[in-house]
Order: sequence, then C-alpha cells, then structure tokens
Amino acid sequence: MSEFDAIFVGAGHNSLACAAHLALKGWKTAVFERSATIGGAVQTHEYTVPGFRHDFGAMNLSLFAGSAFHRKYANELKTHGLEFAPVADCFASAFPDGRWFGVSNDLEKTASRLAGFSAADAATWRRLVAGFMPEAEHLFRLLGSPMSGRALAGTAWNLWRKKGFSDALDTGRLLLSSPRAWLEETFESPHVRTTLAAWGMHLDFAPDIAGGAVFPYLESMANQAFGMVLGEGGADTMIRALSGMVTAAGGKIVTGAEVAEITVAGGRATGVRLASGDFHIASKAVIASVAPRALTGKLLPDGSGDAGFDAAMKKFRYAPGTMMIHLALDELPDWRAGAELRQFAYVHLAPSLDAMSRTYQQAMAGMLPDEPVLVVGQPTAIDPSRAPKGKHILWVQVRMLPAEILGDAAGKIAPDRWDEVKQAYAERVLDIIESYAPGLRQKILGRAVFSPLDLERENPNLVGGDQICGSHHLAQNFLFRPARGYAGWNTPVANLHLTGAATWPGAGTGAASGYMLAQQLGGN
Ligand SMILES: Cc1cc2nc3c(=O)[nH]c(=O)nc-3n(C[C@H](O)[C@H](O)[C@H](O)COP(=O)(O)OP(=O)(O)OC[C@H]3O[C@@H](n4cnc5c(N)ncnc54)[C@H](O)[C@@H]3O)c2cc1C
Repeated sequence: MSEFDAIFVGAGHNSLACAAHLALKGWKTAVFERSATIGGAVQTHEYTVPGFRHDFGAMNLSLFAGSAFHRKYANELKTHGLEFAPVADCFASAFPDGRWFGVSNDLEKTASRLAGFSAADAATWRRLVAGFMPEAEHLFRLLGSPMSGRALAGTAWNLWRKKGFSDALDTGRLLLSSPRAWLEETFESPHVRTTLAAWGMHLDFAPDIAGGAVFPYLESMANQAFGMVLGEGGADTMIRALSGMVTAAGGKIVTGAEVAEITVAGGRATGVRLASGDFHIASKAVIASVAPRALTGKLLPDGSGDAGFDAAMKKFRYAPGTMMIHLALDELPDWRAGAELRQFAYVHLAPSLDAMSRTYQQAMAGMLPDEPVLVVGQPTAIDPSRAPKGKHILWVQVRMLPAEILGDAAGKIAPDRWDEVKQAYAERVLDIIESYAPGLRQKILGRAVFSPLDLERENPNLVGGDQICGSHHLAQNFLFRPARGYAGWNTPVANLHLTGAATWPGAGTGAASGYMLAQQLGGN
C-alpha cells in the first residue's frame, strides 16, 4: 500500500495533463491505467504491417495545440518530445458527381474553390473569416472556462459589452442552431453546406440536431485561420510528452493496473483498490477519467450517497458508435474528383445533408447504415514518417453505427454481434471508397478493423464505440455535463472528481477538463 496526494483512475490525456500540473505543484501523484499502454483514445501502433504507424483514435491534435495547457507548458512538452506536423490543406469533401470542395489555410485557395460553386458563397466566406477572431474570442472563452451559472453570466456580460445586445443574441442563436439551419441560411451551394456539415458528424450532431452549428462553424473558420496539426510520427507524441512531464515531476504511472473500486469513508474518497487486490491511499483527491456508467454500483459499489447523482450517471446518454479501419497502402487513393485531394488531411465522403441525417437516424434505430459517413484521414500526405518511404496509411473513421445491431438498412447483412459482421461491413466501407477512388483495394498492403465493440474493449470509456464518451446534445452539455449540479468535475463524494470527455467541455484532445480541474485543485 502506498500513499499519494492524488490518485488518477485511467491514463487518458486529461488525467495526464491534470497529473502533470499537480505534480509540478508539488503533489505526490499516481496514475493507474488498466491497459498495457497509456493515452486512452490517443495512441499510435503498428496495427497492420511493421513500419506503418496508425493512430488508434484521435489524429487531429489541433485542440491540444490550441489549448490553455499547451500555452502554459509548451516548453516542457517540447523538452519531452512533443512535435506537431502542420497541415495546410485541412479538409475536403468528394462528391458523387465528381466535384470536390476543400478548405486550405490559404484564404485565396479556399475562396477560389468556393467561387467555382457560388460567387455569393465566396463573398460570405471572406466576411465570416474577417469576423472570426472577434467571434472566436467569446466562443473560446466559453469553452475554456469552468462551467457554472456564474461563468455563463460572465461570458454573456462580456459578449453584450463588446458586441451590443443584437450581435450578442446572434452569437447565442448560433450556439442553439442546428448545422442545417445555419448552413442553409449562410451558404447557397449544397456542396459547400455538405462539406462543412460533415464536422457535426465527428460528434453526434447530424444536420438537424439543435446546438450543432457551432462545430462546422468553429472547425472551418479555425482551419482557415490557423490550419490544423497532426502529431509528428503519430498522435502519441502528445502522450509521451505528457507522461514525460508527469514522471519528471516525480509522478508515478502504472499500466496494467485496473482500478476495481474507489474506496470511501465518511462520505470522502480515501483511495483505490486495484483489481490485483492492492490498496492505495489518496489524501487529497481521487480523479476518475471514466464513463459515468462505470461509477455507480461498480467503482462506487454502494453508490455515491446521492440517489439523484447515481440515477443521472446511469441514465447518461451515449452517442452512436464508430468503426475504425486502418489501411497500409502502396500509394494514396486515386481520387476521381481530382488529384489535389491527395494533399488533404481529411477527405469526407458524405453526399448530402439528407444522407447524413438518414445515416444518423439509421444508427439511432439500431440499423447498419447503407451509406455511412466516412472520414478518410491521409496522415502520411502530411507526415511521411509514419510509413516506409513512398508508402502510405489511411485512417478511416466510419460514422455513425449502432452499438447493438438490429438490422441492415441495405438489407444485405443479417443482424448479429459486431464480431461476426465487422469484416462484411468493412467491405461495404471499402466499396464506398472505391466508388470515389477506383483501384483502392489493389493498393492495400494490410488492414486492421476495429468495430464499435472493439473500441470499447480497448477503452471502456468508448461505450458502444461512442468516440465522444457521451452525447453532446444541448441537454447533456454545458451546465448539464455530465449532470446538472456536477459540471464542475465534482461528485457528491468529497475528494472524488471526474475528468475526461464525459465532463465539461467534452470530447477532444484539448486537455481542458483535466487542466481546469488541476487549476481548481492546485492553483494556477
Ligand atoms: C476513433 C476516435 C477518433 C477520434 N478523433 C479525434 C480527433 O481526431 N481529434 C480530437 O480532438 N479528438 C478525437 N477523438 C476524441 C478524443 O480522442 C477523446 O475525446 C479524448 O482522447 C478522451 O480523452 P480522456 O482524457 O477523456 O480519456 P480516454 O482517452 O478516454 O482515456 C481513458 C483511459 O482510462 C482508462 N480506464 C478506464 N477505466 C479504468 C479503470 N477502472 N482503471 C484503470 N484505467 C481505466 C482507459 O483504459 C483509458 O486508457 C477521437 C476519439 C476516437 C475514439
């Protein structure tokens, strides 16, 4: 048995960022991770063929690069090996009619592509880009602040003071709008609307879901203004740098160490019991980076002592799942719509807003979508070091899928467990890519397929393959993430805190919940 100031359940990047800050503040910290490797959804491994390095989950590290944690600790992270690979050609969509549209960080390039679809849209884009920094100041302030009624009031006050009442209301309206509502009132080209709407599908914002407009808006404007970054050599560069910071500051990271119970005495968290039977004491804090359903009745066998909180953790809603397909390739796809698409970090394959809405609805109804939305990542177009010379990898994210399969919208795959159908479904995905990039199959040197169930096996926080650890719809976001009264990473158990994607401000690699909690506990 050892005694620490803070014990972390899980070594996702939020835990590591929190542990690094607290360790640097002199706290004795220990991070216990059930898997053999740390990083949770941010890992890089040779899943297909030796020499080809694939990001398990997150590939786009722009949120981390732009985070408050990175601003504060850029030098330390660099010392521990953090390297970004900057992306100029960020995202694009290829369409069945052979056309494509893409956003590069060069405004003239993006604007001239837009003008090919609509002169009015090109002018609108320039206007939005010009207004982005003043708008972003408020949105980033909101997303980067602890979530409380007071913080919300402060953001609203600041917004009103700087923009005036009417413009402030417009920002509020953007935050509440669905992607379709914002895109249809802003752009006239269906190709442009569709290209931007695909960003909502990275979360669980299909085009008609209220509260989703801000994601296409922020991603497209931020990519236009700043570009995007990947991790040099793999996304795990950020995990190695974070763990280096933790251990250099005296913190301990233990892998293969599943936490089976958070021990509680007198309404206060006192430590953890590992699955191995070992006990460890935490004198100041236990910080759990887990999915809410792992708490009540499991890590807290007797519950939290607050029936309302326990019920909320059980009822916490997860978003539809993801399948990941990793390919080792002889060369990049031959995109029918244009060779320039080979330069982009992401090529989205989603023909229209209606197709995205239908895919989401099919997944919600337990059906295998007939035409899932594909996010085709081409990391070696930006960072060739991830594959042997001249070779490439593809990172294919398949959105959105049911956790439990009740049927097939295409009527071809009999409903069964994911282990039984995943290869057949992966063939459907390859058929879709082939229809946009003929000859892909001949270029494949190796493949690895992770079904939604496999994602959850790798990381239990990805419940049903939900890559964002809980729906981000309005009723479960802001003051309601993970539940009303607990948006401040607190729980009814004293000294027990939650961090990670299930907590404010949600999923992504921005380390925001971990760092804000660390500042709350250990000071700035
Ligand atoms: C397929 C996929 C693609 C993504 N793409 C992007 C992207 O490109 N850009 C982006 O910004 N975001 C992306 N995301 C989202 C982002 O990666 C996650 O939101 C983020 O990494 C979650 O971090 P976290 O700190 O919440 O912890 P996680 O990464 O979820 O890690 C939690 C850790 O806790 C461990 N754990 C859980 N229970 C226990 C226990 N009882 N005992 C010990 N250990 C335990 C788990 O094994 C895991 O290692 C993606 C996610 C996925 C899955």
